[in-house]
Amino acid sequence: MKHQKKRCLVFLSALIIALSACGSQPSSQSASQTTEYTTEQKTTKNTTQSKETTEEETTQSKKEIASKKAKEKSIAASKEEASEKASIKASKAEESKKASIESSKEEEKQASIAQSQAEAQQASIAASQQASVAQSQAEAQQASIAASQQASAAQSQAEAEAASIAASQQASIAQSQAQQNNQTQMVWLTKTGSKYHNKPNCGNSNPDTSWQVPLGQAQASGYEPCKNCFR
Ligand SMILES: [Zn+2]
Repeated sequence: MKHQKKRCLVFLSALIIALSACGSQPSSQSASQTTEYTTEQKTTKNTTQSKETTEEETTQSKKEIASKKAKEKSIAASKEEASEKASIKASKAEESKKASIESSKEEEKQASIAQSQAEAQQASIAASQQASVAQSQAEAQQASIAASQQASAAQSQAEAEAASIAASQQASIAQSQAQQNNQTQMVWLTKTGSKYHNKPNCGNSNPDTSWQVPLGQAQASGYEPCKNCFR
């Protein structure tokens, strides 16, 4: 618009100059011709100058426009860059969020794995403790069984020994008693009989002709016990 206005103004000024030249047409043609020539030259000069100026102006304005457009473009580009940067930042932030979420998930997984491992270790420890307790119990049971077996064996052995001792003692006592009896117990013998009696008047035996001897002596002499008084 500015250029068009400038062009109109230049055109109008040229017309005014031309009209003024026409209006001041003199009586003599030569003078008028010279004046016309000069005016034409002037106008042409003016027009050329104005054209040059307008061209310069237009080029300047074009340059300005171009620079403005370039500025706008650069601004738009910078805006786009800013928006791109913002979007990149946003995407990076999202990526970092995702990464953090994934890392937190992995941490949770690792934590759960560690917890389960710790639980398994505790369980194995408890199992080994129980196993050791059971083993010690079994060993104690075996030891107690062995001890009771040994005790019973010792008891039976002691009982057997005691029994044998008692038997031998009884046997020795019986033997000694028998020997004592043989030596101390007195029996009655008769003149004609071959038996020994524990009383002088047994059966048909005559007490006046009977006498006493120790049992061992009677046995050693071949006498036998009387069936009536020795039963
Ligand atoms: Zn008798």
